[in-house]
Amino acid sequence: MRLLIVGSGIIGASIARIASMYKDLDVYLVDREADVGWGASKANTGIIHPGHEEDPNLYPLRARLCVEGNRLWRNWARELDIPIRFPGELMLVFEGFEGEAKRYVDLARINGVPGVRLLYRDEAERIEPYISGEAIAAVWAPTAGVISPIDAVIALVENAVSNNVKLLTETEVRRVIVSDGRVKGVETNRGFIEADIVVNAAGIYADEVAGTVGLDYKLKPRRGEYILFDSFVDVKPKHIIHSVPTPMSKGVYVVETIERNLLIGPTAEDLPNDSKNDTSTSIEGLSKILNEASRLLKKLPPRDRIIKFFAGIRPEPPNGDWIIEAYTDPWGFIDVAGIRSPGLTAAPAIAIHVFNLLRDKYDLKLEPKDSWNPYRRGIARIKDKPKRIIKKFIEKDPRYGSIICWCNMVSEAEILEAIDRMKYIGLKTITLDGVKFRSKAMYGFCQGSFCRCRIAYLISRIEGIPLWSVKMNSDKSILGVGDVKSILRGEPHD
Ligand SMILES: Cc1cc2nc3c(=O)[nH]c(=O)nc-3n(C[C@H](O)[C@H](O)[C@H](O)COP(=O)(O)OP(=O)(O)OC[C@H]3O[C@@H](n4cnc5c(N)ncnc54)[C@H](O)[C@@H]3O)c2cc1C
Repeated sequence: MRLLIVGSGIIGASIARIASMYKDLDVYLVDREADVGWGASKANTGIIHPGHEEDPNLYPLRARLCVEGNRLWRNWARELDIPIRFPGELMLVFEGFEGEAKRYVDLARINGVPGVRLLYRDEAERIEPYISGEAIAAVWAPTAGVISPIDAVIALVENAVSNNVKLLTETEVRRVIVSDGRVKGVETNRGFIEADIVVNAAGIYADEVAGTVGLDYKLKPRRGEYILFDSFVDVKPKHIIHSVPTPMSKGVYVVETIERNLLIGPTAEDLPNDSKNDTSTSIEGLSKILNEASRLLKKLPPRDRIIKFFAGIRPEPPNGDWIIEAYTDPWGFIDVAGIRSPGLTAAPAIAIHVFNLLRDKYDLKLEPKDSWNPYRRGIARIKDKPKRIIKKFIEKDPRYGSIICWCNMVSEAEILEAIDRMKYIGLKTITLDGVKFRSKAMYGFCQGSFCRCRIAYLISRIEGIPLWSVKMNSDKSILGVGDVKSILRGEPHD
């Protein structure tokens, strides 16, 4: 039986991992982009939420799967070598919000979130000296974690592919084909792909995919903007700090990312329906974040330490609840849509839930593979390693001694391994962004100003393409304009 997953975000990738455990399932993971995880899954806060902010009376599935996801990530991250930390979080309580704070402690008890309690200001400040003087108390949740979401997607896909999932990138699903009430496959920009079951995990575009089988709902694009500071700032809270959630979002966060940068944000702004990929940032949005963050911290780092602004788009479902459904009309169509926060946290639990639905609704008998491999190793890095270890790396491969990215200490050997891994999962185009996410080159203070060209040169050499034609990400993002020297050589040009 062939199962095809539309969308290789954290949800599609988690479902692919679970699907790869079973015999008799021929699994395809399909994405319109050149690489995996380039939707909401690469631009979010990266928090593994504890689950005490979810009201089980309003959203029972969200509440249950968030708590389960938080627990499951500990094992998944170990098996897949995904960098993760669980520093715990402080939800700061300001004058007038005492009742709200108590509600979250109650929700923690109801949802079974361990260790959540209300701290008076003195105790909160002892745990985290950076909290602002305005906070009168804090809700402490020790199980909150931080993950690099793009690392998580890449690891999941590498693991799924090693267990025989086929990844098809640059493949846009245009229509799900149904005949006699059953799913038959999908029509894409590359032609028809046959499938018995189609899982719709297309993020903000899931409503459009679902529309092709006659389902009628709309996902609202809700943008969240961020500010990223470099890793050398002197404001480094040890714990995640955030404000009380609002009906629109989980509020503004201050968090030290896995790469040790200080991240603040996001905003929450509803966009018109035709702006699903509008990830631009604005002066208003960024000012809002700075204002909110300065209420959370005693002081903010100076603005000249900001290295990047970016934004992500939340796929807001009609009544706030995730749309997770296995339909019998048409038979074989499964929606995993409108997965707004805490979708990253819940992803492993959502994937297991989808398989339970699939078994129940379609009466499938799925046999586990004997040969399933739960493990995957990340790229070995020389950054932060002692000199004697780096020496060993260089003895093994001298290209570890050739540093390409000085901000993040990334060697040529690591860049080449990133490219090898992109080829291993079957990417058609080796993009600069793909190399950046895997190697962490171009991720530091200069954001690639110094190393981008050297990396593009490595890509052009390996791919046998001209340097100017190396792409940042999409087809429209080539590095140069063409071979300008052809004009000097008097050759014909367009
Ligand atoms: C600002 C912001 C902050 C957040 N913070 C957190 C947080 O801290 N913790 C947390 O738990 N959650 C957080 N979330 C939520 C989390 O990011 C999402 O729930 C999660 O990333 C959704 O994953 P997804 O796979 O459903 O969607 P996506 O990651 O968007 O993936 C969908 C994929 O489908 C592909 N696609 C779309 N249409 C097609 C098509 N027609 N054919 C082929 N492919 C297609 C896209 O290219 C994309 O790769 C946040 C979200 C945002 C935006």
